[in-house]
Amino acid sequence: MIFRILDGGAGSELHDLGYHVHEDPLWSARLLDTNPGAIKQLHKSYLEAGADTIITVTYQATVAGFEKFLGVSTERATELIKSGVSLAREACHEVPPNLKKGTERRVAGSVGPYGVFLHDGSEYSGYYVESMTQKDGKYLCHGEKFSEAIQIVMSSDQVIAAGINCTHPSYISELLDSLRPLQISKPIIVKPNSGEGWKSGVGWCGRGEQSPLEAHLTAWVDKGATWIGGCCRIKPHDIKTLKEYVEHIVK
Ligand SMILES: [Zn+2]
Repeated sequence: MIFRILDGGAGSELHDLGYHVHEDPLWSARLLDTNPGAIKQLHKSYLEAGADTIITVTYQATVAGFEKFLGVSTERATELIKSGVSLAREACHEVPPNLKKGTERRVAGSVGPYGVFLHDGSEYSGYYVESMTQKDGKYLCHGEKFSEAIQIVMSSDQVIAAGINCTHPSYISELLDSLRPLQISKPIIVKPNSGEGWKSGVGWCGRGEQSPLEAHLTAWVDKGATWIGGCCRIKPHDIKTLKEYVEHIVK
């Protein structure tokens, strides 16, 4: 199995760099219009940290959302979504290769669920329709078992990998354990958040209270995770550390 290092959080990192993305209904996707250079720089910082797969900043990008919140035409909205891919590809070309032989860089397109357009938090609660957001170490917020959802998703020929995104690190081992009986042959993705909570008006809380990601890595790799990165509050320097640990564990 080929191990891949994915990037870390986009929105939280842009927030730390001074962009007010959290209060925006378009989140980081607004920058595709107002500051594409910031997005390219974000991608470059993760590539420089050692990520081999970067994810476009298009989770919150929808034609309807751009029309509504940017006041642009359908054509311009479509162009903006495509520009998310071009920016990521340009970043890949502009950062000198620092990968092991045989690994090539990849750009993964991010497509958020319908709930992101509603901008009411329903993609987390699962209230609007089926949600794949994790409630705990076994179940999705909508009530289904995580392992059953993964089994269904992985059975599609069009799915090359699936896994866990933006989930508290303490849930991940149990979730991976629940996949073991399935003997999945496709790559399993693990992209935890840092475990911090977001409080409106306060910001991210509890950084110092979380154990570092690398403390979990050996267990996650043992339990089958092969594509590893991070989501909210996982920063470029975390990805650098993660890459070094993964290389050490799997050499
Ligand atoms: Zn996240």
